[in-house]
Amino acid sequence: MATPEVPTFKLVLVGDGGTGKTTFVKRHVTGEFEKRYHATQGVEVYPLGFSTNYGEIKFEVWDTAGQEKFGGLRDGYYINGQCGIIMFDVTSRITYKNVPNWHRDLVRVCENIPVVLCGNKVDVKERKVKAKNITFHRKKNLQYYDISAKSNYNFEKPFLWLARKLAGNSSLEFVASVALAPPEVQIDQEMMNKIQQDAEEAAAMPLPDEDDADL
Ligand code: GDP
Ligand code: MG
Repeated sequence: MATPEVPTFKLVLVGDGGTGKTTFVKRHVTGEFEKRYHATQGVEVYPLGFSTNYGEIKFEVWDTAGQEKFGGLRDGYYINGQCGIIMFDVTSRITYKNVPNWHRDLVRVCENIPVVLCGNKVDVKERKVKAKNITFHRKKNLQYYDISAKSNYNFEKPFLWLARKLAGNSSLEFVASVALAPPEVQIDQEMMNKIQQDAEEAAAMPLPDEDDADL
């Protein structure tokens, strides 16, 4: 008997080199196992499956082989993208400053797709890009999450938000936890509380006039 087709969406993953994109996508154990090399584009494609209260959903996550370190990516990377993640590194201000460039490149090809901005490496104590400095998403109607690929912190959040947008259904939930690679670092409770408190305070703040006012 043929297996019913799982709704599948191309997810374009972008951001500066070194921000943790590959580390992040590799956390999903079956996706990492089933990844395919896309020879024409020279990129890896990871099929990441999730179980929801409305059935299975799959993201075909496109991850570069490092081409982003040498400038922009080719249009073929973006074409037919149905959702996106823009990643920066909260320990590196320049990677946040470059977010508008990645967003511009993405929407130039993919006009109107749901996009999540992720600030990675929040496990690092010496954080440079603070929650209150992160405002780009609010002007562009993106969702933002603090994440830590190495600790699995908030791993599922970007996918859940995108799944709800793509399904047009805000009551969609993930019903089973996906198998993730074991955490390589731990965020202690005190730091976790601080991360969450700062994020809540930032969300409640009015938008500053200048993009980079506090950087
Ligand atoms: P990419 O170039 O965006 O694909 O970034 P990589 O996944 O290759 O990661 C770049 C570096 O950042 C590597 O040394 C990773 O181990 C490190 N890294 C990735 N995610 C995290 C994280 O959540 N926390 C910390 N502390 N380091 C991370
Ligand atoms: Mg990479």
